[in-house]
Amino acid sequence: MKATMSAAVLDRPFSMEVKQVPVPVPKADEALIQVHCIGICGSDVHYYEHGRIGRYEVKSPIILGHELAGVVVQTGASVTNVAIGDRVAVEPGVTCGRCEYCKSGRYNLCPDVVFMATPPVDGAWAEYVAVRSDFLFKLPDGMSFEEGALLEPLSVGFHAMQRAKVSPKDKVLVTGLGPIGLLAMAAAKMFGVTQLYGSDVVEFRRNLALQIGASGALNPMDGDLQARIREAFDGYMADVVVETSGNPKAISDTINLVKRGGRIVLIGLPTTDAIPLDIPALIDAELDVYGVFRYANTYPAAIQALRNSDQKISQVVTHRFGLHDIKEAVELARTNKEQSIKVMIYPQREMQSGD
Ligand SMILES: [Zn+2]
Ligand SMILES: [Zn+2]
Repeated sequence: MKATMSAAVLDRPFSMEVKQVPVPVPKADEALIQVHCIGICGSDVHYYEHGRIGRYEVKSPIILGHELAGVVVQTGASVTNVAIGDRVAVEPGVTCGRCEYCKSGRYNLCPDVVFMATPPVDGAWAEYVAVRSDFLFKLPDGMSFEEGALLEPLSVGFHAMQRAKVSPKDKVLVTGLGPIGLLAMAAAKMFGVTQLYGSDVVEFRRNLALQIGASGALNPMDGDLQARIREAFDGYMADVVVETSGNPKAISDTINLVKRGGRIVLIGLPTTDAIPLDIPALIDAELDVYGVFRYANTYPAAIQALRNSDQKISQVVTHRFGLHDIKEAVELARTNKEQSIKVMIYPQREMQSGD
């Protein structure tokens, strides 16, 4: 194993460079992963641009990136679940395993989670990363590294479906068709949903939703959305509305788009705290509202579901770059949010081409 590796280090907003840093040394319960494919997430772009998200602030140089798959190249002494050469997806949040949340299965709420690319924890826009082995999941033959990396954002959609107990009979509307919204649609398909609509103001995204398998995709700016949803669902409102845009109006509007007794799932994080929600209407219609924060226990299920579906989740990948072009890749994700859905980094490719 060589001693140093290339990694994209962010010093402060907009200042990111590929540098040589030490290759991590796996602890006894960790494996060293050679990173083959890793996504750029909205949160990564936000740290790059603003240096902070809420209470998490970039105070010292950090490596971003948390949506990845790769190959095990070294294992710590106590690792038994993976072996050198295994192709794996990496779940990027390592939890304590001891608190009430971890023990009850809701480990995404663990207060002691160590989550990649969340300051001060480094991520994996790098050649290698060391990960606790119980957060590694073997990829079946035929599943690409790219699909393995997409399991992370797909997991958010999976968790949303699990939270709202979505079943094949449900009429589902997904508002916001960025990577999370599109992959939530893919998750809904894997849960057997057949009446599936999406809404987004951007035509490119609506077209992608149709490719993913939406029954239809609507522009919310285009007339009376409530009436058009009712028409789309044959005279009914949605059983489940999954809101991924974070747009305050879209959040407020969910109440008008769901049926009485329906479920609202809120994923998209708004940039303002106070958002009007018609509480009397919510009470009167006995609506269930679910917040979704990351995911828990989704990887094994998502791998099985993906393997057994004909869903092509790589359709959300619009651009691919080597690690040395990371700055260009992040700038693209930052400045062209309409046309760049999921941008992927391939840290090994340029190595092969001798770059
Ligand atoms: Zn992400
Ligand atoms: Zn815990």
